[in-house]
Amino acid sequence: MNRMSYLDKQIEHYLQETKQTGGLRHLDTIYSSSGKWLSAPTAVGVRLNLSGNDYLGIADRPDLREQFSALYPQYHAPSGSTSSRLLLGNFEEAIQLEQEIASALQHESALLFNSGYHLNTAILPSLSTIKGIKIYADRMIHASMIDGIRLSKLPFVRFRHNDLNHLTQLLEADRELYPLPIVMVESLYSMDGDQADLKALVRLKQTYPNLIIYCDEAHAIGTHGAHGYGLAEELEVLPSIDILVGTFGKALNSMGAYVATSAMLRDYLINRARPLIFSTMLPPASVAWSRYIFQTLPTLTSERAHLRATSQALRSALQEMDYATPGVAHIVPIIRGDNDSCCALATVLSEGGFEVRPIRYPTVAQGTARIRLSLTASIRIEDLLPMLDILAHQR
Ligand SMILES: *Cc1c(COP(=O)(O)O)cnc(C)c1O
Repeated sequence: MNRMSYLDKQIEHYLQETKQTGGLRHLDTIYSSSGKWLSAPTAVGVRLNLSGNDYLGIADRPDLREQFSALYPQYHAPSGSTSSRLLLGNFEEAIQLEQEIASALQHESALLFNSGYHLNTAILPSLSTIKGIKIYADRMIHASMIDGIRLSKLPFVRFRHNDLNHLTQLLEADRELYPLPIVMVESLYSMDGDQADLKALVRLKQTYPNLIIYCDEAHAIGTHGAHGYGLAEELEVLPSIDILVGTFGKALNSMGAYVATSAMLRDYLINRARPLIFSTMLPPASVAWSRYIFQTLPTLTSERAHLRATSQALRSALQEMDYATPGVAHIVPIIRGDNDSCCALATVLSEGGFEVRPIRYPTVAQGTARIRLSLTASIRIEDLLPMLDILAHQR
């Protein structure tokens, strides 16, 4: 038998089946910017970008780009690092950024990774030979954290989303068997725009002194806290989050990720974390840009205040029209119900000039298909008024 055609047959079957359930993914239109206004070569006019993660509006800030170029003329052409960090891919900019992150986030040390995905699939597998661990994962954590758990083969259980009573029951039941619980949460969840009760989590350490808190701030770094150091800063628990993780890919408009943690765990990860050891380090120009934006974060207070104000205004306007919008932050979901009516609403909004994406079952629970609006600091409430008009007629 022809092996290739046997493979093709199975792949085709998968693709057809996925298409029938409406879940087929594809690479989308190419836009000429990642900023507030999107224009595609194939379409007329522009669309307001309500689907990006550039929460601080940095894509629309030529001033920051110019300032960076003036400060770092050597990084105009972003050449590669050519090697793993453990070989020749280590450089001053990376070490300095790690020290600045550690000090800002009130930890002994920090370690960079090539992306949040690399990081979340690196940490737990590195801990796979440590005795006594069990993972307790919030049901809504990101796929990269789930993949890290799976790769580690450590025992794990999921607790109901943001339900610390459920978590406590599970911890209590395992107390004798697993003396080293690791609780995995995100600070701000991207489906509901709701937050973890980090203060209450930290209080659990009084009952479970070995408890390790692993918190991913992917959607809150830059946007939360007085200096933009995340929800852990806002809630004043920075040093109590043992494994504090964030990405440069979203609000910081760069690439790469960090973990802020103990000096000992950093040393350990340098020895054990395979995505760090066996992958080429980020380009120096990219790390320099991350560092520049990280240093700029404390000054972006008006951007954060503006983002918060627009988010609140949008939520109130939607609630006045009886749309269900859970959550509190700059990620504003509009719950629509079934998949079909959610897709229909997305089409109407797209045609009206708004780049929105339907999020459907099974990505979210049945009957809670939604449009997920993510705001940035460069979006004004006036930009959203035509969308609210459309929505008023879709109720
Ligand atoms: C986006 C995201 C990641 C992945 O980060 P990248 O740097 O894009 O790989 C990890 N965790 C969470 C919670 C995310 O939202």
